[in-house]
Amino acid sequence: MPELPEVETVKNGIKKFIGNAVIRSVEVRNRQLRAKIPEDFEQAVSGATVCGYRRRGKYIVMDLNNGNSIVCHLGMSGKLKTTDEPPTAPDKHDHLTIQTSAGCLVYNDPRRFGLFFAAPTTELEKLPCFSKLGKDPFAADFDGEYLFSGCRRRHKAVKPVLLDQSFIAGIGNIYASEILFDAGIRPTRRANSLSRKECSRLAASTRKILQTAVDNGGSSIHDYQQPDGRLGYFQYLHRVYDKTGCTCPDCPFAGQKNGGIRKIVQDGRSTYYCPVKQK
Ligand SMILES: [Zn+2]
Repeated sequence: MPELPEVETVKNGIKKFIGNAVIRSVEVRNRQLRAKIPEDFEQAVSGATVCGYRRRGKYIVMDLNNGNSIVCHLGMSGKLKTTDEPPTAPDKHDHLTIQTSAGCLVYNDPRRFGLFFAAPTTELEKLPCFSKLGKDPFAADFDGEYLFSGCRRRHKAVKPVLLDQSFIAGIGNIYASEILFDAGIRPTRRANSLSRKECSRLAASTRKILQTAVDNGGSSIHDYQQPDGRLGYFQYLHRVYDKTGCTCPDCPFAGQKNGGIRKIVQDGRSTYYCPVKQK
């Protein structure tokens, strides 16, 4: 599932390609995504100029000059591809093509868990999917103090707390393990047991890991690719994710004796950590 770095990379990729182009036409081949693409989607966006690109959590928002915004969520397997011309032989999972004056945007989604809709820009924050979103890790006031006050009220383990989108918007399963490893915090620690100092380390690691991932084009696993078809490279920089039994990069000798990187399951999701480094 694309997480914040992948969504940020996709947003930057389409911004670079489409820029402030005019939407000439929209062709929907299949409306049945997680929710149905509304029947009036084509009418709400056609003829408008794209005037801004944003990311809210794992949602991509394209603001238009007609007062509407296009909202897209990539779900589990959604891809936004950029092409000069509309595909002559569309893939069976190419559900939607937006043709603009600068080129085409094609939405491909084999598992169809994604979302595509348009809504008035001024109403976006009132939508249930946005009004419940927590703080973005790249927001200026995302810091140790924010994490500390939120963690104090949560007695679940810190790993699932990092995945709680109503607390922090955008972190998913891969980066939660990487962030906790970087911060030296064990994923099974109760959130309310973290000290102020640990929360400030956690905030710094969150930004550091996510920024490095954005700089590397995200992690190309489960078919993720950038809009121009290039792969992301952050998967080569994963230090614990999917590394069960591997020697810990930060404590090669002590880690070996302990069996290396461990995998556990929390709330049905895999977590990877080093039992030596992470306390
Ligand atoms: Zn280690």
